[in-house]
Amino acid sequence: MSISQNLLQKYAELIVRTGANVQPGQVVQLTIAVEQHAFAALLIEECYRAGAKKVNVDWTSDAKSRLDFLYADQETLSAVLPWEEAKMRQMVEDLPCRIFITSEDPDAMRGIDAGKLSAVMQSRAAVRKPYRDAIEGKHQWVIAAHPSEKWAKKCFPDAENAVDRLWDAILATVRVSEDADPVAAWKAHTDFIERKAAWLNDQRFTSLRYSSANGTDFTVRLIPDAKWEGAGAVNARNGAFYIPNMPTEEIFTSPLAGACEGTLVAVKPLSWNSQLIEDFSITFKDGRAVSCRAAKGQELLEKMIRMDGGAAMLGEVALVPKESPVNRCGFLFYETLFDENACCHCALGMGFKEVLPDGDDLTMEQAKQRGINDSIIHVDFMVGADDLAIDGIRPDGTVVPVFRDGTWA
Ligand code: ZN
Repeated sequence: MSISQNLLQKYAELIVRTGANVQPGQVVQLTIAVEQHAFAALLIEECYRAGAKKVNVDWTSDAKSRLDFLYADQETLSAVLPWEEAKMRQMVEDLPCRIFITSEDPDAMRGIDAGKLSAVMQSRAAVRKPYRDAIEGKHQWVIAAHPSEKWAKKCFPDAENAVDRLWDAILATVRVSEDADPVAAWKAHTDFIERKAAWLNDQRFTSLRYSSANGTDFTVRLIPDAKWEGAGAVNARNGAFYIPNMPTEEIFTSPLAGACEGTLVAVKPLSWNSQLIEDFSITFKDGRAVSCRAAKGQELLEKMIRMDGGAAMLGEVALVPKESPVNRCGFLFYETLFDENACCHCALGMGFKEVLPDGDDLTMEQAKQRGINDSIIHVDFMVGADDLAIDGIRPDGTVVPVFRDGTWA
């Protein structure tokens, strides 16, 4: 174990103070794997130091989840019991600050019946939805990562010190180091992202045009009043600024569903349902993916695009410069929290109604009328080639360079 106590302490402080921004008197709900109990203790203490009234913990275990799916039946696993609902009702009352620490083994559910898995997730999500909607926008939350043995081995199969290497990578992406001040680094980082998002919003681009020597040649229309967002969010109830994802590098919006043309060529493999899709491209016509080609995982990619009516349309376009610390790590994390922050990407499937000015008050059906895509999937794929050029088209037809050579123009 080469990771120092000083670094762990700095990281815990960053998650609690800058990420979740725990306020005096708030209840905190921490979700973390049992294996990470030592780091949980650091987080819990830091929450209390920040003035938390009470810290509650949901302990998770990959092993237990897997055994549940192997041995318990679908009906039993799908049921949300009265005590679980009581807990969610309490959450609506407390509006706790939520901290999620992910350390999941990317292969934890390998071999488990995919139909059973998604049926259970869907029926539990349906019961949880009203509670989730009731706290949406009214509480602070953050997702950050902690290595686990299995996750590290997946990233570095041949390394003896896989966990240390994953630690080094995670800390580099969240700007934590022995000598620098991560809080100051994050302030500068979020300020930069907010300036860029404000610039994009001022431009009022009606569409974006992508091109690269790799074959990417693509145009996507944007929703006129949709906002570009990035980095932070504000709890509408208490005005606290928080950072939902650590790391985060992207500035994103939801494009107009059903209004894009051309081909996007992926620059990184895509991990979906614990399987890899490699060297692939997707061609769109009238806003829908009409064909795709993959050197590996062709069938899987086709299946993904046909998941439902919205799976063939885009729900997200995101801008990330190629200098991103995630990209500099140079390996696949098998975890969207990291992989989607490597470079520019698009996502097939569900869009974000929050990017509409009154989005929080809209139902998904209303958001759909305004051009936000709806689907049960949301799958990010990376298109940020080193030579990627993106032009923005203003309402009067003026063309403005946004990205050149994979980074801000
Ligand atoms: Zn994204």
